[in-house]
Amino acid sequence: MTEEKKITGMKSLMELYKAGRGPSSSHTMGPEKACKVFIEKNPDADSFKVILYGSLSKTGKGHGTDSVIKKTFGEKPCEVEFNFTEANLPHPNTMDMYAYSDGEKIDELRIMSVGGGRIEVPGSDLVETPDVYRHTTFAEIADYCRKKDIHLWQYAEEMEGPKLRPYIAEMWEIMKSCIRAGINDEGILPGGLEVVKRAKQLHGSMHIDESPETRENRMVCAYAFAVSEQNACGEQIVTAPTCGASGVLPAVLYYQQKKRNYSDERIVEALETAGIIGNLIKTNASISGAECGCQAEVGSACAMASAALAELFHLDFDKIEYAAEIAIEHHLGLTCDPICGLVQIPCIERNAVAAMRAINAVSLSSFLADTRKMTLDNVIQVMKETGRDLAHPYRETSEGGLAKIKL
Ligand code: SF4
Repeated sequence: MTEEKKITGMKSLMELYKAGRGPSSSHTMGPEKACKVFIEKNPDADSFKVILYGSLSKTGKGHGTDSVIKKTFGEKPCEVEFNFTEANLPHPNTMDMYAYSDGEKIDELRIMSVGGGRIEVPGSDLVETPDVYRHTTFAEIADYCRKKDIHLWQYAEEMEGPKLRPYIAEMWEIMKSCIRAGINDEGILPGGLEVVKRAKQLHGSMHIDESPETRENRMVCAYAFAVSEQNACGEQIVTAPTCGASGVLPAVLYYQQKKRNYSDERIVEALETAGIIGNLIKTNASISGAECGCQAEVGSACAMASAALAELFHLDFDKIEYAAEIAIEHHLGLTCDPICGLVQIPCIERNAVAAMRAINAVSLSSFLADTRKMTLDNVIQVMKETGRDLAHPYRETSEGGLAKIKL
């Protein structure tokens, strides 16, 4: 389990939202980044070896970790070994990398893929980036914003400077392209489970007497399926906060933009507000399924989508906080048990269900915020503790739950 680090601040939202290829930010984007760091550190090496441990070994085949690693090393040969037995690890997604020159080992490095494509080197600042936010709890941030009379998205822009908005706008363009590609795509997902792509079918199958509520449900789900299926195919998505949970937030926002004509500028602001919530969870708990189960991935995505929607609806701080809190609270304990280690079952449907749940959370929050008892900071802490209490088979190992069912 990850050693506790002192929390001194939060990173940029540009590290939370990242464009990249699926299907798993911790199993594909993280290892890819780790390989690039190691190649740069060892320009004279002529061959490499990578040993994958923990969840990286147990679901690495299904997530395509070995092929991403080999592709990243390019012309230089790289042996990839899966170690299924080592249990004494600093993080469930740990990898050891070795560099060789003329058969002699010249360097080695242990890297952890901690979720959302982010990597850490234990005891080193080799890949460390600076903290951009000095506040680390929702209570502190809300207090700061109330005193300055600014919104959460304005707070993000104040802390990050002028580069943030164009960056987030670019991420939104990629999210929209991904949805458009997904609702026009057909066929079978790769990996051997023979899962049929269903976004197009959902998007196009209107019932004759379909109510507006049923239509909303179907369209939001179609958009979530679209992104999640593109992710499962290894196409480009935006981590929100991870690849596996990348369908929730764009589905909610795309539907609302179509329904209510929100401008792209307004959606960018909602994404910035959502980013603050995602960053709080990433900093104080985890966004890694291997570390804290699916509550950390899809639960976090649902909280981000709830906050984004509350922002779009101009709800106040209490309501934004309550919506995000409801979203996490009712994902507590959600296990990560992908069948065959593929980010398909239960992941794709789960993104759709979470997108609907985000809309419900905002609805509840808008009526009941005055009576709430729980804070967002509290529930984030509980999510972390619950995740660490989850038995090992339920943390992205494909050894328990649904993953035991033979299809
Ligand atoms: S079950 Fe959840 S956390 Fe696990 S791979 Fe699927 S989406 Fe990611």
